[in-house]
Amino acid sequence: MLTEPQKSKVLFLRLFFSENKEGRRCDFVEEHASGTPLTTGDRYLVKLLEFLHLWELGKDGGVHQPVITDYEGQLAKMYLYLTFSCPNRCWFCYADGGKRTCREMPAEDFARIIREGVDAGFESVVLLGGEPLVYSGFPQLVREIRNMDRGKTRIILRSSLSLPLSDELLGQICETFDRIVTSLDGDEQRHDSIRGIGKYARTMDNLRRGIALGKAEFSVNSVMSADDFSGEQGKHVRDLCDDLGIGRLTIQSPVPLGRAREYEGRRLYWKKTDDPLGLKAQELFRTSCGLGHNLYIEPDGKTYPCYAWCSPEHQLGDLSRESLAQLLSRKELLAVMNHGVDTNRKCKNCEVRYLCGGKCKIYVKDKHDIDSPDFDCEEKKAAILKDAETYSRFLYQTEKGE
Ligand code: SF4
Ligand code: SF4
Repeated sequence: MLTEPQKSKVLFLRLFFSENKEGRRCDFVEEHASGTPLTTGDRYLVKLLEFLHLWELGKDGGVHQPVITDYEGQLAKMYLYLTFSCPNRCWFCYADGGKRTCREMPAEDFARIIREGVDAGFESVVLLGGEPLVYSGFPQLVREIRNMDRGKTRIILRSSLSLPLSDELLGQICETFDRIVTSLDGDEQRHDSIRGIGKYARTMDNLRRGIALGKAEFSVNSVMSADDFSGEQGKHVRDLCDDLGIGRLTIQSPVPLGRAREYEGRRLYWKKTDDPLGLKAQELFRTSCGLGHNLYIEPDGKTYPCYAWCSPEHQLGDLSRESLAQLLSRKELLAVMNHGVDTNRKCKNCEVRYLCGGKCKIYVKDKHDIDSPDFDCEEKKAAILKDAETYSRFLYQTEKGE
């Protein structure tokens, strides 16, 4: 039995693999536009087709991303790093938390930037660090966010939850954030070997008390190798989330940045969600790794397109000295947004480019050329093709009624 996201992917593949002809794609889109009921009838497909309307069919019968000319509907996540301080020293910390120092803006500045993010239409603002709970202005910032009109923007906190939290502060956090993402890196022994003795018990205590309040949604991020994922450690966090009723769990391998810069293990990114209808069409149909749609803001206000694209030459501005509207008006972020799989010199001729979205800039050797083809993606491409084959076989069998 296929899950809803898998069904959508089947439909997607029907458009771009099994039915890879311009005429068929047009029929499919027109059927929807004329209001003919679709056999699947799910909101999911409608979302996908609405998304496809934004696309252009090229003379070669392929689809192409139109040039994006303004930010409307294009801004995804604003990552706001409150501090790089942290009581932990996880070996894989890409932010070099606890070791790296940086001037920190006052809470009023962070609050202003969040308001500006809401006004600009970001889907979500994510507060993180380091450990955001050790930022000295955190209680004041929480108070400001609680009273904020946040429109459609979700405000998310990412914390290790490994500090003692009073009932009062935990209650305020749960009432303020739309989602709280915390870290569990395996069983107690594994987690404590990474984060320190007693940290697992503390995080679990905070997590259980927070969930019991029934006010905020909680989710879990785990960092582990691909081998651990398929072994006892992966099973532990999956079972734990099931027991706690946590529907969103992301497991990913360390990325070669910060303290893990030498990490060479196989790349893993696995996501469980019990909210398939919440999965965005863009996640099924990708034009880039996301570069240009997010903002990475350091504690002192310096702003870049991504933590993997953050050398001085890529700095977009300084939000401690200017407003977000001023920064966006220079259109530098828009320019970055228009680089993706259709402009990358390796991806633009790749048949799986819209399923893949291209290679994360962490793994691109040339950090100056945004369309550099200087990366290895054989493993990634093989995995995508294998998925495509599986889904296509399923589709074929379904159509034959087998
Ligand atoms: S990964 Fe998180 S908890 Fe660990 S050192 Fe870095 S910021 Fe701190
Ligand atoms: S498989 Fe490789 S070449 Fe193809 S889109 Fe992905 S990163 Fe680019």
